Order: sequence, then C-alpha cells, then structure tokens
Amino acid sequence: MSNEKVILVTGGSGLVGKAIEWVIENDNGKYGKQEGEKWVFLTSKDGNLRSAEATRAIFEKYKPTHVIHLAALVGGLFKNMKYKLDFLRDNLLINDNVLQTAHEHKVKKVVSCLSTCIFPDKTTYPIDETMIHSGPPHESNFGYAYAKRLIDTQNKAYHDQFGDNFTSVIPTNVFGPHDNYDLQDSHVIPGLVHKCYLAKKNGTPFVVAGTGKPLRQFIYSRDLAKLFIWVLREYKEIDPIILSVGEKDEVSIKDVADTIVKAVGFEGDYNFDTSKADGQYKKTASNAKLMKYLPDFQFTPFEVAVKESTEWFIQNYDNART
Ligand code: NDP
Repeated sequence: MSNEKVILVTGGSGLVGKAIEWVIENDNGKYGKQEGEKWVFLTSKDGNLRSAEATRAIFEKYKPTHVIHLAALVGGLFKNMKYKLDFLRDNLLINDNVLQTAHEHKVKKVVSCLSTCIFPDKTTYPIDETMIHSGPPHESNFGYAYAKRLIDTQNKAYHDQFGDNFTSVIPTNVFGPHDNYDLQDSHVIPGLVHKCYLAKKNGTPFVVAGTGKPLRQFIYSRDLAKLFIWVLREYKEIDPIILSVGEKDEVSIKDVADTIVKAVGFEGDYNFDTSKADGQYKKTASNAKLMKYLPDFQFTPFEVAVKESTEWFIQNYDNART
C-alpha cells in the first residue's frame, strides 16, 4: 500500500482555501508541501456538496486520506438575516455529507471550520473553546450558527461511536487575497478596502459606517492557513481550537480604517457616519489554547497583512469578487 497522503480541501477556491494553497506552494519551511503529500483543492464546480451522491463521487475519484473541510454557505449580516433556512439547511447538508462520506471512506483525519460568530450571544469575555454550546447564538445568524455548532457535536459522536479522528478549528475574522470584496455583503476589511479604493479613484470622501469604536480580532488568511496545516499534521484533540491573534492584538474599526487609508494611499476627506449602527462592541476570543501549543507562532503584522491584501485587490480588481 502506498504511504501517499491525499489531502482533499473542500471550498478550495474561497478565501481560506486559496490561502492554504498559497502556503502549500510557497512556504519553504515547515508549512509547505511535504514529500508524499498530494493536495486537491475543490471548488463547487467539482460537485455540489449539498448532494450526497456528488459528495460520494468526489471521494471515489480522489480517495482522500485526509480532509480539510471549508466549504460552506457564508455571508454577511444581511444575507444571514434574510436566508436563515438556507444557511441552516445548506450547511447541515454539506457538513453531514462530507463527514459521513469521510467516515465511510475511513479518512484518517478531518479538520472542519467553525467560527467565533457562532458563540452564545450573551456570554462572558474572553470567549474560549468550552463555551460554544453554552447558550443561544445571536438571532441574526442562528441558522448558520446551529449548523456550524453541530459539526462539533458530530465530531464527538463519530469519535465516541467509531473512534474517528474528526476535529475542528474556530477562526476569528479572516481577511486576505481572494476575499469577497462585494460592497453590499462583505466583511469589514474587504468592504472598507473596496470603498476606500473607489473614494481615491473617484475623488469622493471615504465614509466609514458607525463610530469606529468597536473592537475586533482579525487573522490574516495566510497565517490561518499555516495554523490549519499545523492542526492537520499535529493537533490530536477532537475538541476545537480557536485560531486567532491574542486579546492584546484586538484593533478598533478606526485602527482598521486608518491602516486601509495608508495601504490604499488615500489622501482625501475621511470620516465616520455615526448615524449607522456599530454592531457588538467586542467579541474578544482567547487564543490561550493555541499559544500553549505554539508559543512561538509569528503572526504577520496587521499593517503588512492589510497592505498585501489591498495590493492583491487592486491588482485583481477585474477578477475579484466585487
Ligand atoms: P468563501 O466564501 O471565500 O468560500 C466558500 C467556498 O465554499 C468556495 O470554495 C465555494 O466554492 C465553496 N462552496 C460553497 N457552497 C458549496 C457547495 N454547495 N458545494 C461545494 N462547494 C461549495 O469562504 P471562506 O474561505 O471565507 O470560508 C471558509 C470557511 O471558513 C467556511 O467554513 C467559513 O464558515 C469559515 N469561516 C470564515 C470566516 C471569514 O471571516 N471569512 C471566519 C470564520 C470562519 P465556489 O468558489 O466554487 O463557489
């Protein structure tokens, strides 16, 4: 029997999948491609993972030994509020198909992706890995949140009943090349990068919604990619692990906007529209568990990561998701 590891990445064309592909191809150190590894990055064109049949066909074709499961219906606040059943059902179906097919194919390890936005609405801070199921999620995204929480429940059940090695990670807000830069339904960094770029191009003011005061933790997609690869190769627990910069690296939306203004080279009028809602003031997550495992992990400085993402966006403006 060959010792080749075949690592199948679902959602390989998205923000996180593209970053993993980049690190596998470009990192000359311990995170890059290792001998005996074959990486397969899937897009929805390879098959719709909401279908059990299509999922089986993909596993038959590639015969993976390991799976990184990223594919999901994802979206901003507006889409989450409007399509709650789609977010619940699509994600339930995708996750159930991937995990059950991985089980049937005796896949050695699956690493799935949760999110800090699935934690209870009413909580104490900092959030940690033990709190996922401690109370209802925020009303606005309960479809997405319950579907994601069930991945953790399924991982434990597959482990307890069959001994399967299925685990999950919990990233905070991710940004980087290949993000969704749509102006209506994107996350804060890509949305502001796009807005600032247009303000510079059109000579109009750069207006940031809200007061700029809320605090957030952001992780650069290429840092997250390295941590995903470490989890796949080394992390032994079934319980999830938060992948994030530390509490001291939390930044305000104003810090984010200032960094983007610099990265874009915008010199025009710049202000905050305080009539717009701010959202939650903070959602601080603890990365203590990660730091215990990897105390020396070097996160890319925020300014460098924003600069690289902005440059990617400007260079790929015609093909980016806008
Ligand atoms: P993207 O929206 O950038 O990518 C989603 C990926 O999923 C794409 O490759 C898409 O394929 C694929 N996909 C979606 N639906 C299906 C389907 N029915 N069948 C097959 N493939 C499908 O997402 P991200 O990279 O941002 O997110 C990756 C994971 O990280 C998700 O699980 C998300 O919940 C999680 N996450 C993301 C955060 C963030 O800030 N972005 C934060 C925390 C967690 P195609 O390109 O062909 O459409």
